[in-house]
Amino acid sequence: MANYVVVSRFARRCAGSAAAVLACVCVSLAAADKNYTVKHNDTLTDLAHKYGLTVSELAEHNGLTRTEKLRVGQKLVIPDSEAVRIEAASSSLLPKGLNKIRVERAKWKYIVIHHSASPNASVKGMDYYHRVERHMENGLAYHFVIGNGRSMKDGEIAIGRRWTAQLDGGHLASEALNKKAVGICMVGNFDEDRPTKRQMESLHALVDFLLARCRLSADAVKTHQQINPIYTRCPGRNFPAKSFLRELKEENGHGPSDGAVVLR
Ligand SMILES: [Zn+2]
Repeated sequence: MANYVVVSRFARRCAGSAAAVLACVCVSLAAADKNYTVKHNDTLTDLAHKYGLTVSELAEHNGLTRTEKLRVGQKLVIPDSEAVRIEAASSSLLPKGLNKIRVERAKWKYIVIHHSASPNASVKGMDYYHRVERHMENGLAYHFVIGNGRSMKDGEIAIGRRWTAQLDGGHLASEALNKKAVGICMVGNFDEDRPTKRQMESLHALVDFLLARCRLSADAVKTHQQINPIYTRCPGRNFPAKSFLRELKEENGHGPSDGAVVLR
């Protein structure tokens, strides 16, 4: 309940400041593969490095082994590095059509994790609450919601209209941060319960996908509490923030980063 009070107070701070609808700058989903003819002294390692791929990615894409010697004049296909990363991050846990949504990539700098602070919260209920009670014209304040087996299937990922239309979030007190932070809400009250195993697996798959899609490093992933430690404990004391963020950094920590941005 304490958390609910905190959330309500936070929500009140957001009320009345309807998110601006930004024009969607469309970005093509994946650049085409390139053809390449092997030159003298080319190696898989050098070519992989040159095109932002791992040796395994380049080798597998061409049906080669990692240590294979290249011949001068040999034809290779160089896959688009972003497409390769997105494919690797995609999994059966992600909702169909997610990777077809056009993303305004330069807009998104953060991915922020919340809990709903209620075990029975539903997308419809939160959408109504944010639209009617909190007067947010774009409704559901988050871009994604991950179910816990009650109002939604366990681990099910719902895509909000704020993601399909690339709209600002309404999930943070700072309007400046709402413009550049993707909001993910895990259904549950993690001050009392824990996220389910499937919820965590889906969160991991979704965050991996978003990091690749928006070309962010794992440093871009924050809990709500990390953004605003004074006003909220969201996503709750039982959310395994440390281990989750550490795993992400181990897996994704080498990606390009947009650099430090002062949090407010
Ligand atoms: Zn929150």
